Amino acid sequence: MTGPTQGRRAIVLGAGVAGLAAAFGLAEAGCRVLLLESRAWCGGRAFSFVDRASGRRLDNGPHALLGCYRGMRELLRRLGTDQLFAADRALRLAYRGPDGAATALALARLPVPLAMPFGLLALRLPLGARLRALWGMAAVLGPAPAAWSLDDWLGARGQRGAPDDYFWRPLCRAIMNVEPAACAAADFLATLREAFLGRASAAAFLLPLRPWGEILADPAPAALRRAGVELRTGARVAAIERAARGAVVGVGLSGGERIEVGERDLVVSALPWFALRGLVPDLAGGFGALRASPIVTVHFALADGGPLLPDDGPVTALAGGDPFHFVLRTPGGDPRQFALLSGGNRSFDGLRTDAIEGLARAQLARWFPGFPAAAPALVRVAKEALATFVAAPGSRALRPRPGPLPGGPPNLLVCGDWTDTGLPATLEGACRSAQAVLAQLR
Ligand SMILES: Cc1cc2nc3c(=O)[nH]c(=O)nc-3n(C[C@H](O)[C@H](O)[C@H](O)COP(=O)(O)OP(=O)(O)OC[C@H]3O[C@@H](n4cnc5c(N)ncnc54)[C@H](O)[C@@H]3O)c2cc1C
Repeated sequence: MTGPTQGRRAIVLGAGVAGLAAAFGLAEAGCRVLLLESRAWCGGRAFSFVDRASGRRLDNGPHALLGCYRGMRELLRRLGTDQLFAADRALRLAYRGPDGAATALALARLPVPLAMPFGLLALRLPLGARLRALWGMAAVLGPAPAAWSLDDWLGARGQRGAPDDYFWRPLCRAIMNVEPAACAAADFLATLREAFLGRASAAAFLLPLRPWGEILADPAPAALRRAGVELRTGARVAAIERAARGAVVGVGLSGGERIEVGERDLVVSALPWFALRGLVPDLAGGFGALRASPIVTVHFALADGGPLLPDDGPVTALAGGDPFHFVLRTPGGDPRQFALLSGGNRSFDGLRTDAIEGLARAQLARWFPGFPAAAPALVRVAKEALATFVAAPGSRALRPRPGPLPGGPPNLLVCGDWTDTGLPATLEGACRSAQAVLAQLR
């Protein structure tokens, strides 16, 4: 292959999924690629750690894909781990109410616009609520003013109450990682349209069968080597040096090492916004103002022979759930193991892990009546304070397009989930941002 990238040197900063996708793509386009990652492993915000108490390899938080995540699935194929997922043919989501009442949304294998009315009407909710949810689903096709939060949209479309609790809020938390009041209606609806206007499989969850460390961190070094990418882990970028006329001329590492950047070389930042803004403060006017939303995950491993939770399938949304919103299980995994997840809830800030465990146990006892709050279990709390950026009304204007920063050096290109891909903070957004940068170089 010859072209503008052939033989060029590219230095990619950050080996999360955006950096991995960029590195593979640049190498394929003929660049000599150096990938710098501050941690000891690749994968960025989707990673695993070993819990010393249980010896289990646990995720920092559950990550699910949707069938429509094409870019992420391509990255997984490159890593050879695309088969480590259970893929339903269509969306299936179980619900529990605060009194234990259970229902489920299960779409038939038809195009979603045909399957959804049947799925919604089969929910065990009052008929009026089901009809309103159906009307709300049709309204997804319409535009929403940029200034509207999803909460504004829900109010204007008559979706408050059960449709909100059972349908919109769980989807908003799963996709946007914030409550509807903090989420831009237009961004949420755009994602729904992508997932819900096609085949049922595009809207289905793809759930990992193994910890994310096995899916990204373990295979990445060998796959990168095979692709000709030089990976350096433990390499924290401390400076992006620019010449007087603006081009990047060097990348400084925290140990004092300096990597020279030549005139034809490219620097592709796949760093999160909060890391990049410290390196180019004069260019961070817009994206520097993006806010972060947390995710708290409580992993349970129940004792042998003790009580189990009812098996609702891999994803249970806790309708009206506060502070936890979902129960997740590995498909086909050990029924004693599950995780409780809370997204975008600031009430955990400053709370100790034993207090968080107490909240999780109390909520389990309410949403699953009969399950004892004190059930013997090994419990591990994982807190991610900067899990995602908040796609709030107006935040789209703060997100630069993937590529050169406005007014920035022409040889510094940025990607990452926080750049303006039209998607919220997702693995797919991260991959697509890298693809957008590659498309500009062709
Ligand atoms: C707990 C949790 C659950 C989530 N659940 C989902 C989900 O279900 N579905 C979904 O699609 N998305 C989910 N997300 C969001 C998803 O993880 C992110 O959108 C995605 O991983 C972002 O990828 P990225 O490559 O843009 O950034 P990152 O993953 O943040 O990658 C950036 C990389 O840069 C490195 N780095 C940072 N600073 C430096 C430096 N100075 N020098 C060198 N390297 C540096 C970091 O170590 C990291 O490896 C979740 C996130 C979390 C935290």
